[in-house]
Amino acid sequence: MAVKTILTEPNDILRKVSEPVEKVGNDEKILMDDMLETMYAANGIGLAAIQIGVPKRIIVMDLGKKDGKKDPRYFVNPVIKNKNQSKSTYEEGCLSVPNQFAEIDRPSKCDVEYLNYNGERKILKAEGLLATCIQHEMDHLDGILFIDYLSKLKRSMILKKLSKNKSTRIVV
Ligand code: ZN
Repeated sequence: MAVKTILTEPNDILRKVSEPVEKVGNDEKILMDDMLETMYAANGIGLAAIQIGVPKRIIVMDLGKKDGKKDPRYFVNPVIKNKNQSKSTYEEGCLSVPNQFAEIDRPSKCDVEYLNYNGERKILKAEGLLATCIQHEMDHLDGILFIDYLSKLKRSMILKKLSKNKSTRIVV
């Protein structure tokens, strides 16, 4: 397993639409292992493959367990089958939008069909934080970031801060 570099906004790669995975093979398993390790190293609870520059429809998540044990989840080719009308609001952040947070409304429940680590078809009935997190990660697969839901003004303020924080490369 290897810790990869997480891409941060602004970066055109983050805006790519990721491709479906044909088969969960060895390459995909290595990718998922690397993604999980990268996510843990960055103290995140979710990561999409495109965030490490791989345009495949793969997500890893770990919302942890009450006893503090690890609870890794893997989603390949996830599709939302159902979502309810009522919304819930969480203050969201993103490993690709460092140190920025904003309240985002999303459907409070959703059913997601996906392939697991072993390529088996599964359905997850998600609610609460799990529902919000999977929707946030699935947005990444379509090149969408949580800041896209904010007003233009708020978004441009965040983008300005992010570009300021990006280290400047000098050639001397
Ligand atoms: Zn994110």
